Amino acid sequence: MLSINTLEGRIKVSFAIKGMEQYFDGSWSFGIAKLVTKYGKYFLHIPMTKEIVTPDINLVNKVVGIDLGINFLATAYDSKGKTIFFNGRTVKHKRAHYEQLRKKLQQKGTRSARKRLRSMGSRENRWVCDLNHKITKALVNQYGPNTLFVIEDLTGMRSAAEKVHLNNRYTSVSWAFYQFRSFLEYKAAMSGSSVIAVDPKYTSQTCPKCGHTEKANRDKKKHIFKCKTCSYTSNDDRIGAMNLWTTGIEYVSKVTLQASFTA
Ligand SMILES: [Zn+2]
Repeated sequence: MLSINTLEGRIKVSFAIKGMEQYFDGSWSFGIAKLVTKYGKYFLHIPMTKEIVTPDINLVNKVVGIDLGINFLATAYDSKGKTIFFNGRTVKHKRAHYEQLRKKLQQKGTRSARKRLRSMGSRENRWVCDLNHKITKALVNQYGPNTLFVIEDLTGMRSAAEKVHLNNRYTSVSWAFYQFRSFLEYKAAMSGSSVIAVDPKYTSQTCPKCGHTEKANRDKKKHIFKCKTCSYTSNDDRIGAMNLWTTGIEYVSKVTLQASFTA
């Protein structure tokens, strides 16, 4: 039962926890709740907190490189040489749709148009947020515990914007990447895995087979990577994920080596 303070005194109400049973196992602490009414129903939003032990790097048994882009939203490459694409084609269309609608409304410039613009902005944000939740959840479920996820550190907004060719939308794009990273970090931590963000320099230009680095290796328009030296050819998002995987492998061997020296 929930005890809620109202203008007419305290009332006790029952609540449904279907699908959220895990939060009531005693390991979570509850924050300050907020009562929200929507669609004729009442929802209680409760922030939940849990202390998590940082996973031991020595236990890592899988490294997964994740390239983020708009063509295939997320591309993952793992230690078995397997590539998984989280198709972002619908994302691209939907973004384009929002973009068009936004332009139209901006041209109109009326009060109601401005109002619609605002509500549209938050709808798009919710939709990106939902997508980020789904993809990070799928990634964590796919690889299980003791995984090291390697992503690009895209806090430098220019590289994030460059990646998706939307020059005038710096904020929205970097915001989505930043959210993806924070979702992946906490979901990974909850399942005993960890995330490292690495310098994105050359991840899309370096040949994962021979190491040759050249801008011309990648054809951005056709989304194809072809090494100028050894002719290794693949989808360019996959190349990014492969190079991130390599960086992850190097990271693990360096860290575990250091640990064995100090031990
Ligand atoms: Zn090569």
